[in-house]
Amino acid sequence: MFKGDGFMFFGAIEASGAKFVCCIGTEKGEIMERVSFETETPEITMEKVISFFKNKKIEAIGIGCFGPIDLHKDSETYGYITSTPKTFWRNFNIVSEIEKTLNIPVYFDTIVNTAVYGEHIWGAGKNISNTIYLTIGKGVGGGAIVEGKLVHGMLHPEMGHIFVNRHPRDKFVGNCPFHGGNCLEGMASEMALERRWGVEFKDIPENHPAWDMEAFYIAHALVNYILVLSPEKIIIGGDIIKRGNLLTLIKERVVKLLNNYVQNDKILKNIDDYIVLPKLKDDSALLGALALCFKK
Ligand code: ZN
Repeated sequence: MFKGDGFMFFGAIEASGAKFVCCIGTEKGEIMERVSFETETPEITMEKVISFFKNKKIEAIGIGCFGPIDLHKDSETYGYITSTPKTFWRNFNIVSEIEKTLNIPVYFDTIVNTAVYGEHIWGAGKNISNTIYLTIGKGVGGGAIVEGKLVHGMLHPEMGHIFVNRHPRDKFVGNCPFHGGNCLEGMASEMALERRWGVEFKDIPENHPAWDMEAFYIAHALVNYILVLSPEKIIIGGDIIKRGNLLTLIKERVVKLLNNYVQNDKILKNIDDYIVLPKLKDDSALLGALALCFKK
């Protein structure tokens, strides 16, 4: 099954604040073996990562990592997780930790960039040059492919922290430690939803006003992304989005907010094919991390 049989294998890590998923896969995106475990301290977590990949005869490893992270190869802190609220991981060099132990090339990007990249190579964004991926979970984040390339820029996009209008009936203070109730994450993350309504999001009934308010915030964000990046496809992941008719409410609000200003059939006639769930389901970021290993 491994090198020597004529096949090449690669490793991938989806490193989120909640869990690590590691896999061995192929250039076709087939996952041969996988393991996942809770994110603990770097010492405990990295020991599990290394013991999974050790002796696996892989060519390289791609990592999609929670952030913020340093992606500039000429920077002294390239490969570091930087100012994360997860204090154990602050200023931890995840790239060198793996490189020095396994002695293979390591490719590194944000977890949301690897998610959009995975969807671009094998999923809902295949053969599309301009795609964005947004995930609504405990935090909110997004990655973008523009003109066929992942966007990094000065740092990397932080699409979860764009400022949004306040819903007229919303009194919630907001949940972002940096921006309170001004940003999307502060108002629309799982944690914001649960704090606002005092109940776990899984227990909020389908017909509860929470969903219309949630759609309000996500739709405002999407409209901003549409106006700035002009994506040809918007992919939304995370558990909240699978709830009831939230996705439908978001699409209706997006069309209403744009108010015929963006005259394109993707929005006016084919919104169901424009704002979609990830085709790779929960594996967008893991498969995107795998694809980083043979990215041209
Ligand atoms: Zn924020």
